[in-house]
Amino acid sequence: MAALAFIETDEGIVKKSSLEAVSYAHAVAGDVTAIVFGAVDNLDTVGAAGASKVLHVQDEKLAAPNIMAYSSAIAEAMNQEGADLLVLAKSSLGDPVSARVAIKVDAALASNVSELPDAGGAVKKSIYTGKAFAITSLEGTKKIISIKKNAISVKEDGGSADVVAFSPTLNDGDFTVTTTKTEKAEGDILLPEADLVVSGGRGLKGPENWGMVEDLAKALGAATGCSKPVSDMDWRPHHEHVGQTGIKVSPSLYIAIGISGAIQHLAGVNSSKYILVINKDSEAPFFKAADYGVVGDAFDVVPKLTEAIKKAQG
Ligand SMILES: Cc1cc2nc3c(=O)[nH]c(=O)nc-3n(C[C@H](O)[C@H](O)[C@H](O)COP(=O)(O)OP(=O)(O)OC[C@H]3O[C@@H](n4cnc5c(N)ncnc54)[C@H](O)[C@@H]3O)c2cc1C
Repeated sequence: MAALAFIETDEGIVKKSSLEAVSYAHAVAGDVTAIVFGAVDNLDTVGAAGASKVLHVQDEKLAAPNIMAYSSAIAEAMNQEGADLLVLAKSSLGDPVSARVAIKVDAALASNVSELPDAGGAVKKSIYTGKAFAITSLEGTKKIISIKKNAISVKEDGGSADVVAFSPTLNDGDFTVTTTKTEKAEGDILLPEADLVVSGGRGLKGPENWGMVEDLAKALGAATGCSKPVSDMDWRPHHEHVGQTGIKVSPSLYIAIGISGAIQHLAGVNSSKYILVINKDSEAPFFKAADYGVVGDAFDVVPKLTEAIKKAQG
């Protein structure tokens, strides 16, 4: 089976979630071609992740993400490459693109897939904001799988890919909606994309105590987040609010400090690969969702953890 993987980039860098898509496609199909739009600094990572070929679209009009045009280009690439499988990362761009490509190539689509297909080809989807799973069977010749972040580890020894220029046939209908300008939220590391997140809750007592959260985040190179009441009380900016009604994060590690673990908060963090909870109450619900837990006073534990990390880093 031949597969196509859609690569998303951020400021010219291939997103880790897209490398996971390449490795997923490689594990399922073996033969993987990737498609990428615009200038990219680290295309070599795509080959290492398992692609043998990269279709590189360098049309100026497609440098900024464009849902309609990307969908048309990806459908054309699937047809050109004879790909029966498209794998991409679930994201705000991947979701609308995958739905449109499914219509264009008449493919069965499963999104938010968390594991490789089983022996019968069925996939496990995360549903109800991660509180349940659905085993989904995809019928027909063509299939599209959009994967949840951290669904698979990125392969790093796949090899190198041939990079080939690709000029899709697009028409005016593909450009009825275009992005004229994008502005990023403030902060060095954006929360939705962060690989490490340090988050604080009401247990921190007040905004004056956030220094220790920021120190830990700085030592780790992590983004900072918070629970909803914390942002409601203006202890932290609203764009840091994590949860069902806030930002959904999918880091490799989520550190929750003084957060109880209410179901609405967990809905935003349950795609994390590992969760470390620091809470003085051993009965705090968050411990049930944690991979690692420290029962202790944050004001005692967090500075010691930061010191230990700095020491380990030399
Ligand atoms: C419709 C709806 C949507 C919601 N959406 C969200 C959402 O998106 N995100 C969200 O976060 N919440 C959301 N909530 C609110 C949610 O239900 C909880 O009220 C909220 O998550 C609790 O925040 P918290 O854990 O910071 O505070 P608390 O529940 O007050 O918990 C504080 C925790 O800190 C611990 N603690 C106290 N002192 C210390 C110390 N010194 N050291 C260590 N630990 C300490 C306590 O043991 C406790 O577990 C929503 C609620 C509703 C009704």
